[in-house]
Amino acid sequence: MSEISSTITQLGGRLAVDFANAPSYPGTPYHELSWEDLVVFLEASRIVSHERGERLLTLSQSDPQTAQGVLVRATRLRDALREVFGAMVRREKIAGEWIEPINEVLRITEGHDELVHEDGKWRLEFIAREGGLDWLFAAIARSAAEILMEGAASNIRICANPSCGLFFCDNSRTHRRRWCSMAVCGNRHKVATFARRRAS
Ligand SMILES: [Zn+2]
Repeated sequence: MSEISSTITQLGGRLAVDFANAPSYPGTPYHELSWEDLVVFLEASRIVSHERGERLLTLSQSDPQTAQGVLVRATRLRDALREVFGAMVRREKIAGEWIEPINEVLRITEGHDELVHEDGKWRLEFIAREGGLDWLFAAIARSAAEILMEGAASNIRICANPSCGLFFCDNSRTHRRRWCSMAVCGNRHKVATFARRRAS
């Protein structure tokens, strides 16, 4: 896992927000989610171990039908999250049809957490009761549910760069964070403002 991808996927501040952004490239709007993107995300957010991630990657070859099914459901969940968070940012009503993909995951993922030792650290890994792979989204759906319950207190925002579209939770003390990434969108804005000032 490269340093870059783990930083990028974590700029949302909350798991469900990071997933709504996935695959996140600050400053560029919408990207199709590929099987590889999905596995990279699951690994970067520590939902699966590196070892499990490697095994998942090969699934698109060994069992393309299963991989495709999981990817379709992942994309449906991600797009629903984007609708939900977009409505929260604009303080609009949240449609029931966007909640359904979240509830679907909450419904089917029964299991428990187990302590796993990896890279010298302890972390919790979700162990599903049933087979299938939808448990991969359990923590994401739970994170989304928490954000919905918090409502405005979750401080969910969208990047001020209109061509970006990434969401983030503004956990800053002053609640005045404007950019998904200061280094990308914030800087682009600064450069543009500077150029405008010089031109006039
Ligand atoms: Zn941005």
